[in-house]
Amino acid sequence: MRIGVVGVAGRMGRLIAEEVAAGGHILSGGTERRESGHPVPDGIIAFPDLAALAAASEAVIDFTHADTAEHHAAVLAAAGTAWVLGTTGLSPNGDAAVARAAQAIPVVQSPNFGPGITLLLALAERLGAALPAAEYDAEIIEMHHRQKVDAPSGTAVGLGRAVAKGRGVRLEEVMDSGRDGHTGPRPPGAIGFAALRGGQVVGEHTVLFAAGTEHIALTHRAFDRRMFATGAVRAAAWTQGKPAGLYSMADVMGVG
Ligand code: NAD
Repeated sequence: MRIGVVGVAGRMGRLIAEEVAAGGHILSGGTERRESGHPVPDGIIAFPDLAALAAASEAVIDFTHADTAEHHAAVLAAAGTAWVLGTTGLSPNGDAAVARAAQAIPVVQSPNFGPGITLLLALAERLGAALPAAEYDAEIIEMHHRQKVDAPSGTAVGLGRAVAKGRGVRLEEVMDSGRDGHTGPRPPGAIGFAALRGGQVVGEHTVLFAAGTEHIALTHRAFDRRMFATGAVRAAAWTQGKPAGLYSMADVMGVG
């Protein structure tokens, strides 16, 4: 499959370009902004703009910047080229543009293209549905590097949301985060969060269901951002022959 990479000199862009080749696909080329200060890496065909890249590609992988979403949506929809969108932090207008584009082309959008995390989210929802909340206390434990400024991580919140969805409740109603001091006993049905910070941990997440007689724990450890690139290339290949629509990584993995 001919796959193009917009923003190919970015941190993710470079990894994605490598993974396109590693996945046995043809890297049609890439684009890069003049202002980025990073040229298109050697050996990759540089296209002047996204329209030219789209015309040469069956799918374009986009891990760039939220401000580009509306423009990229219009260009890719007009070209009829599938769009794998990993950029996060889109505005409501950006989200609306993505939904419009998905009427014309296949769009795979995910805040986390890691195949392992995608499976963990699906499993967390299933366990949440299967294990009675009155018996199984759900706790989400995460650890990240010392530079991380927010807690709990977006992925931890996503896992809590998945458990809550399985239980048929809204996370906001049951979230128990940042325990300290005299907290009183654990509220029944709470979904607890604990955030550890230290060293250079890329990202570790555990979903724990703790009952009186047993514990069930699912753990994911990320060692390298490359897992996002591998997943994005898998998503691009999956779009081949797919009708227009808005898809998630869970759809790509067959767990949606
Ligand atoms: P980066 O800054 O290293 O690269 C951004 C790229 O986008 C550069 O090539 C840059 O030139 C290009 N770009 C195009 N238009 C731009 C604009 N208007 N402003 C700034 N840059 C512009 O960033 P990165 O670490 O590669 O991350 C890129 C995006 O991917 C971010 O939104 C990040 O949150 C997201 N991301 C998503 C996942 C996922 O699984 N969905 C994983 C990692 C990162």
